[in-house]
Amino acid sequence: MALIVQKYGGSSVADPERVKRVAQRVARTRRAGHQVVVVVSALGDTTDNLLELASKVCRRPPEREMDMLLATGEQVSCALLAMAMHGLGVKAISFTGAQVGIVTDRAHTRARIQDISAQRIQAALARKWVVIVAGFQGMTRDHEITTLGRGGSDLTAVALAKALNARICEIYTDVEGVYTADPRIVPNARKLPAISYDEMLELAGSGTQVMQARSMEVAKRYEVPLHIRSSFSRATGTIISKEVKAMEQVAVSGVSLQKDEAKVTVCDVPDRPGVAATIFTRISDANINVDMIVQNVSRTGFTDVSFTVSRADLARVLRVTRRVAAEVKAGRVIHDDGVAKVSVVGVGMRSHSGIAAKMFQALAKESINIEMISTSEIKISCIIRKDQAVKAVRTLHDSFELEKLGKSSARK
Ligand code: ADP
Ligand code: ASP
Ligand code: MG
Repeated sequence: MALIVQKYGGSSVADPERVKRVAQRVARTRRAGHQVVVVVSALGDTTDNLLELASKVCRRPPEREMDMLLATGEQVSCALLAMAMHGLGVKAISFTGAQVGIVTDRAHTRARIQDISAQRIQAALARKWVVIVAGFQGMTRDHEITTLGRGGSDLTAVALAKALNARICEIYTDVEGVYTADPRIVPNARKLPAISYDEMLELAGSGTQVMQARSMEVAKRYEVPLHIRSSFSRATGTIISKEVKAMEQVAVSGVSLQKDEAKVTVCDVPDRPGVAATIFTRISDANINVDMIVQNVSRTGFTDVSFTVSRADLARVLRVTRRVAAEVKAGRVIHDDGVAKVSVVGVGMRSHSGIAAKMFQALAKESINIEMISTSEIKISCIIRKDQAVKAVRTLHDSFELEKLGKSSARK
């Protein structure tokens, strides 16, 4: 008998029939003698619909109220799944994040988990119940409802797996695992049998939607064993684990795309120590994540500083940046939301050379201009025009011959 955490994403519970199918799958695991903790996302597009609803009543809804609204999506799905389990004669109980003691900070809409007091889950498991937890949400110490950022049910699942010391955390989704690229964009993308925490963290951080980036930070830190797999088939998916030597043989294991990027440029920034620190401290104090930063060479004592943020943060970052630009006596602040970021990722980059050159050549061959570049030990990212993004992903997938990796597997 093992303790297993299973997370089902929105597409896996998109309608009542799918909820019942998930219930059957959970019931099978329970009947095999395992203890099961299930984390569910909101049904289908519920979260998007709730966001749209909010935008219809208020241009800039207070984030506290946004969390009150968004958290309801997962509350619906966890209750429905518990009912479906009862329909199958399996004892199950649903809980909100708050009820199972998922304590977060106060950063509404992007809260971080600080603590989980899993006693209530343990008690229900001891009574042989299946425990169903609403994903994506928690509660502050002063009892305010929070949500964990888009895709945050992954984080709920990983954090619970860690807190409960689960044998495995299974992430059920609408594809059969982690592919060499988004199968929606690259039809001959291959399913990877295994991938390292570092690679999945970089892929997720650069736009690969299948796992939320913050959930991967937690998974990596605590080495939570993960299995990404399809809720529509029994096939083995992708195991995410610590790096093993064999993984290094492949220079690039995936290509990712982030379409919702925006570039901000502060023009004519005085070129003296402390100015960049002031600008980026203000932005970080506003809880906005900056991705790439490029500072041009100064010729006249002034320089242009460009950086990218998620498009969702653009309006907020412009407000903060305009204020701080005036404060440091810089010039105009301009922005461009017609950009995208393509990245290639692979632990093998540590031991293979020439990957950046190969990436730039592949993009050049397709006349794709590179506007910004950033690198980490195992990732190279380029900012390009958004309307060339799909072409870029396909050409990079071809150039690095990723269709020769892993197994081909049809998307569900
Ligand atoms: P869920 O609703 O189950 O959380 P998501 O929509 O968040 O699912 O993530 C699954 C989607 O991620 C897939 O439908 C797929 O199109 C997309 N995706 C992007 N890149 C990849 C990749 N490299 N491997 C697998 N899926 C990917
Ligand atoms: N329902 C939330 C979202 O759509 C959380 C999740 O699905 O993981 O972002
Ligand atoms: Mg998701």
